[in-house]
Amino acid sequence: MNKGSLFVISGPSGTGKGTVCEALLKKEPIFLSVSATTRDQRNNEVDGETYYFVSEERFRSMIDEEKMLEWAVYNENYYGTPKKAVEDMLEQGKNVLLEIEPQGALKVKEMLPEAVLIFILPPSMKELKRRLEDRGRENAEQIRKRLDAAAWEMEQAPKYNEMIVNDDLEACVEDVCGVIRKRSSKMERLDALLNEI
Ligand code: 5GP
Repeated sequence: MNKGSLFVISGPSGTGKGTVCEALLKKEPIFLSVSATTRDQRNNEVDGETYYFVSEERFRSMIDEEKMLEWAVYNENYYGTPKKAVEDMLEQGKNVLLEIEPQGALKVKEMLPEAVLIFILPPSMKELKRRLEDRGRENAEQIRKRLDAAAWEMEQAPKYNEMIVNDDLEACVEDVCGVIRKRSSKMERLDALLNEI
């Protein structure tokens, strides 16, 4: 049996990639990896579901013990993908989804060139700014920082396999599903061919 495929989704904060991933999970049989982070837990977040919320010491020991597939520092906090769950799922032939920022995504691509990287773009910078402001979580200075970070992140987009604009949630989810299905059916074809040998 073939191994599952690894899909990575990135996009600046405010592009709605979290909502895209949520909708995707309802449509596609795919395992969403739960990351570890040192950032503070928000009110609506569940430890072990949204993230594994860990201390910096614990995070560093996970790195030292080579338990991370990738990790990065974002907004002064550590974020990383625990390796074992991802490897187990892929080994069982299941598709796996990582929702991570570009430093980590590009490390994954280096280690596992067969991974499929998908970048979610906002329809415009004006719209991205509006979405960040609508959240009402941050002041003008913090939003300015988010937009600067977004510019750097978007410069990495051409290194991804696919770029998808999120101007309509349903259409965007359908496009992402299309990428996943296309890869899965090609992998099945390849598997069948290799079985003929
Ligand atoms: P937030 O703190 O808003 O949940 O996430 C901040 C950023 O960290 C987002 O761009 C998110 O995709 C990214 N992120 C979440 N988990 C991981 C991870 O395991 N590795 C990396 N490199 N980035 C992550």
